[in-house]
Amino acid sequence: MTVTDLIASYDPALAPDPLAPDPLVPGHVSWRDLPAAQQPDWPDQSALAAVMADLGSCAPLVLPEESDRLRDRLAAVARGEAVLIQGGDCAETFGGTSERQIRAKLTTLDQMATVLSAAAGLPAIRIGRIAGQYSKPRSNPTEVIDGLELPVYRGDSVNSVEFTPEARRPDPERLRRAYHSSAVTLNLIRAVTGGAETEAVYTSHEALILDYEAALTRRDSRTGRYYAGSGHLLWIGERTRQLDGAHLAFAARVDNPVAVKLGPSATADEAMALIDLLDPEREPGRLTFITRMGARQIRDVLPELVAKVTASGAQVAWVCDPMHGNTFTSPTGHKTRRVADIADEAEGFLAVHRELGTHPGGFHLEFTGDFVTECVGGTDEVTFEDLGRRYESTCDPRLNRGQALDLAFSVADRYRSA
Ligand code: PEP
Ligand code: MN
Repeated sequence: MTVTDLIASYDPALAPDPLAPDPLVPGHVSWRDLPAAQQPDWPDQSALAAVMADLGSCAPLVLPEESDRLRDRLAAVARGEAVLIQGGDCAETFGGTSERQIRAKLTTLDQMATVLSAAAGLPAIRIGRIAGQYSKPRSNPTEVIDGLELPVYRGDSVNSVEFTPEARRPDPERLRRAYHSSAVTLNLIRAVTGGAETEAVYTSHEALILDYEAALTRRDSRTGRYYAGSGHLLWIGERTRQLDGAHLAFAARVDNPVAVKLGPSATADEAMALIDLLDPEREPGRLTFITRMGARQIRDVLPELVAKVTASGAQVAWVCDPMHGNTFTSPTGHKTRRVADIADEAEGFLAVHRELGTHPGGFHLEFTGDFVTECVGGTDEVTFEDLGRRYESTCDPRLNRGQALDLAFSVADRYRSA
């Protein structure tokens, strides 16, 4: 091998396309050739290609060895030796990268982890929905207000929440801004938590916009394998987890720890198919299932999934998202959630695992460090009438700092009594 060959083999820009079929897997199909749900309708494809080319030559936000370390930590969760607390905004915004806001989220995450860790008697792994959570799947491609129909808001990485034709037009320059906002956020996280004696805070987001994820995917020079460089853990959402779709094919192609959301319609066979696709080697730490069943359904739906997966011998981490199955519209017209329903689903999750003798691996939450009024209830009660005061989320309602701690203490009580 010449020096030129050597340099070329380590240049990510010249590395084999992570989108190409895997030559080592007979019959492997690139995710580029599969249907990708929830992708924006970019009006200018050449502008998109230019931004992707730029991002392709930028440094990744996180390194493979960091993602490997998180995989080890999540293996401890899967084995019942640690608990996970994962949380942050439903949708981060470009306007939300002040030091104060980021610190407040980190403090909330830290306090919840401390409470949960003490209650479970196990170390707590902390993962933010942070430094990359800029893209949202939506129920409808458009939104109508006062007779005007416009593309729906898909997160700050795609368009703006403001309701004008110009603001709602998908703009690929926003993906570049998502990368830079992630870098700014991650920089502060590393500065705040970077001391030798402090445990890391890892980053995660929904891997939704596949062009962006692919542009930040790098080949690890140590192993020749691919890693998403956009965050430590990526998850595939409830709306994009089609077994024959592009999102799962992409997730299968990278070595980061990955998670999949499972809603109330998920079957045990689907869970097994997801394991076969994403974790064929059955390695604890590789795959986390984030269940989001709703308080009324979790006790009926979750047992069969956990029982079948456990009986198969696969060691996934089971994490409860008690937010997304409990959303409703308040009489005042706000999208909201009740703290009591969230606590009830969390309790159901613990009860199901207690019954089956399996490990309740932790919680996935939407919260902020600020005193917003988006969810109702809590010790410092937010009522329907209060919702309009500080409703700041551009997407789903988040717990405020006090409500997040109320939830942590209520979950802690259940852990102790278990
Ligand atoms: C989310 O986590 O914000 C989300 C959209 O979740 P789900 O895919 O579970 O609906
Ligand atoms: Mn959400």
